[in-house]
Amino acid sequence: MVAALLRCIHLYGEPLAPTLDLTQIADYGRRLFPSLNFDVGDSIFGLLRSCAGDDVLIRWAESFAIAKVRNPMRRGGDFQPLPGEIAYERRRLANPQSRASGILYDGYKLMALLRELIPTAEADLGHLHIVFTNQLFGTWDEGDGRYHARVSLYGFPTIISTTGIVEAPAKPREYYFLKQQYALLGIDDAAALNFGGRFQGRFLEYDDERLTEVMKGYLMQSVFYQLTGDPFCQDKNCRLYNAHWQEEVLRAQLGGQYEFCPFHQQQLLDWRSGGGPI
Ligand SMILES: [Zn+2]
Repeated sequence: MVAALLRCIHLYGEPLAPTLDLTQIADYGRRLFPSLNFDVGDSIFGLLRSCAGDDVLIRWAESFAIAKVRNPMRRGGDFQPLPGEIAYERRRLANPQSRASGILYDGYKLMALLRELIPTAEADLGHLHIVFTNQLFGTWDEGDGRYHARVSLYGFPTIISTTGIVEAPAKPREYYFLKQQYALLGIDDAAALNFGGRFQGRFLEYDDERLTEVMKGYLMQSVFYQLTGDPFCQDKNCRLYNAHWQEEVLRAQLGGQYEFCPFHQQQLLDWRSGGGPI
């Protein structure tokens, strides 16, 4: 059990995710953890932009370029990024409206970089930092020897990707089958891939109205990770379920029989009544 008391949860927003409402997420957290403070902030990169000179931004741009996964089939070692890659990252860091499109970052390298932006006074177990980002990140899987995109990576700070929630959990098998069939016919534009609304609501899309509700569960996984070391649950109806399919995400976060399984519900009640690390 973690000895230090958790006091404050810091949520860093993603301005490019218009359906992500951190105020609602913080209100949800306050209801479940009335004794905790919630600090809702802007993008973590705002801290960098507001205080860094151009030379610092270039150093950061280089670090982000190094954190990029160049080949998902190869475990990334350090490499010298190309000038164009650094210039791309420099533009992205300087402009809050810039989207990181099509790039997969190494999740642990990204976490290490963001850690440097956390104020020293808030760098202890009394604080939980959760960074929402539209950057897509992945982790290396020893089992099949490749990177896999992830929704979340728990640590210091925890990072949660609003792109990852769309791209990482798999869509229904039938979707990929039909997509392949359409591709054989030379059809691959997004409108055609709606398949006449056949999959309507069965997976999350960009700027999905359900994003905030879904992310409440990822907030809870972050808190359980910090307090117990285990963010996940085996119960598919529990918000802590480690979903690998879109339909599992939607069931755990929106359509389960309950929000939390009896075990985790009890744990929450115990914490609220003064037992444990809060
Ligand atoms: Zn559970």
